[in-house]
Amino acid sequence: MTAKHIVMTFQELNISKPILQALAEKGYETPTPIQEKAIPVALQGKDLLGTAQTGTGKTAAFAIPIIQQLDGEGTASGKRRDIKALILTPTRELAAQVGECFRDYAAHVGVRHAVIFGGVNQKSQTDALARGVDILVATPGRLNDLMNQGFIRLDRIRHFVLDEADRMLDMGFIADIKRLLPKLPRERQTLFFSATMPPAIAELARAMLRDPVRVGVAPVASVVDTVEQRLYLVEKPQKKDLLIHLLRQETEKSVLVFSRTKHGADKIARLLARAGIGSAALHGDKSQGARERALSNFKSGKTRVLIATDIAARGIDIIDLPLVINYDLPDVPETYVHRVGRTGRAGNTGMALSFCSREEEGMMRDIQKLTGKKLRSVMVELALEG
Ligand code: AMP
Repeated sequence: MTAKHIVMTFQELNISKPILQALAEKGYETPTPIQEKAIPVALQGKDLLGTAQTGTGKTAAFAIPIIQQLDGEGTASGKRRDIKALILTPTRELAAQVGECFRDYAAHVGVRHAVIFGGVNQKSQTDALARGVDILVATPGRLNDLMNQGFIRLDRIRHFVLDEADRMLDMGFIADIKRLLPKLPRERQTLFFSATMPPAIAELARAMLRDPVRVGVAPVASVVDTVEQRLYLVEKPQKKDLLIHLLRQETEKSVLVFSRTKHGADKIARLLARAGIGSAALHGDKSQGARERALSNFKSGKTRVLIATDIAARGIDIIDLPLVINYDLPDVPETYVHRVGRTGRAGNTGMALSFCSREEEGMMRDIQKLTGKKLRSVMVELALEG
C-alpha cells in the first residue's frame, strides 16, 4: 500500500490566524481534498482550474484564499472601498450560500462583502454597494443590470471566481460572461470551478485563465468502473458475524470499514478485538494525536483494519486501498460515492462491500438511483458458508 499523504490540517495550508479561528468556530476539523489542493495554489495568487462540485467544500477552497489575500493587502484601511473580488454564480441560492461562507470565514477579518441577485428589489443591494464592499458575489443578470445603471465598477478587481461554470452554460449565461471579461482588469487572479468540463467550458477556461494550476476531485455521482461493488442483504444482528467472516477471508488486505456513528465505530473495534482481529477506530472524539497515530499505523500496514466515520475519513487519501466495507449505509447517497471512492484509485482495482439491512433498503435505492448502477447483491446465508 502506498501512502500519498496523511490528513493535513488547516494550519499546514498557511491559513492566517483569524481565518483559522473562524473555521474552528464553524466546526471544520480538517480540509477537504479540494481545499487541500486549491488553497495553497490560490494563496500564491496563481490561476486555478478546479473540477469539483457542490458538496466537496469548493466554496471554502476559493473563499479562504481570497479573504486572506485581501486582508494581507490591507483592504480595510482608510481609503474608498472598491470591489476587489468578484464571484459569479449561476443561481441566487448559490449566491446566497457563497455569501454566507464569506460572512463566516471573514468573521474576524475586516473585509466586507455583498450579494446581489435578481428577482428581488435592488434597493438593499445598491445601498450595500454604496457603503462600499471588497467582495461582491453576483449572478450574471443582476450584475449586468447594476453595471448598466452605474452602481458597479469592475476596474479594481484583482480576484475573479467563476463558480459552477458548467451550470452557467446550461443556463445560457456564457454570452454574458464573455461580454463581462473585457471589463475586468487583465492583471488579476482567476479561479475557475466546474463540476464537468464539456468542450465549451474547457474553451472558456482557456480564454480566461493564465497558466492555471489544475486541481480536481472526482465527480461525486459516479463510482469508477475499476471498483467492484457488492451488496450484502443482511439482518442487523448478523452484520458483526459477516464482518468477522469477511475479514478472516481477506487476511492480506488493508480494509477500511465505514460506520455511520462514532459510537458504532468504537463498538465494531471492540467486537473485532474480541474476535482477535486488530483494528483501530478513527473518529472526531479521538484526540488529534490518536487520529494521526491510527492513520499512520493503517497506512504503514501495522493496523490492517481501520474503522472510520464519514467526517473522520475526509481527506484520507491512500492509493491502492483494495477493500472498503460499509458496515452501515449512509443517509446521504453522495456519501456512499465518497466512501467507495477510497478504493480503486489511480486506475487500481478495488472492491466495495455494503451491508444492507431491511431498514436500510430505502437508502440503498437512493444510492442506486444516484450512481445509476444496480448493485450485485449477495444473500448472506450464502456468504457465510463460503
Ligand atoms: P460546498 O461544496 O462548498 O458547497 O461545501 C459543502 C459543505 O461542506 C458546506 O456545508 C460546508 O460548510 C461544508 N464544509 C466545507 N469545508 C469543510 C471542512 N473542511 N470540514 C467540514 N465541513 C466543511
